[in-house]
Amino acid sequence: MKEVCNCPKCGGDRFIGNQTVSREVIVDGSGNWLKNIKDGIYDTEIPNGPFVCKKCGAEYDQLPVQISEDEVVENIIEDFIFDEDKIIEAIDEAVHDLFSNRASEVNNGGVHEQLKFLVGEMGEDEVKRLVTEAQE
Ligand SMILES: [Zn+2]
Repeated sequence: MKEVCNCPKCGGDRFIGNQTVSREVIVDGSGNWLKNIKDGIYDTEIPNGPFVCKKCGAEYDQLPVQISEDEVVENIIEDFIFDEDKIIEAIDEAVHDLFSNRASEVNNGGVHEQLKFLVGEMGEDEVKRLVTEAQE
């Protein structure tokens, strides 16, 4: 399962954060600042909050990195009406296309990829049974 790191309100994946930076400066022999060096800024710290979603402006103290796929789905369901045939058809088609592409990838990956996929989907015992039955 992919880690979902999107804004729970709009699904946006870019946030404006804050970062402590250091810069190169000219000092005198006593370490007193004299002037900044042009383009002398470099990053030093991990960006921190508050984070503001670039898309919808929602503000978060922490990034909403731990939002589950189920929560994202709930937000999508709230925002759209799913009783129209053309929406249902578009979703059906997208699922079908993704699985079809995934099937091609797995099959093109050879026996190792195929078995890895099947073990993940069916479990070791079922895969062994499948192979055993095919041999008979
Ligand atoms: Zn947002």
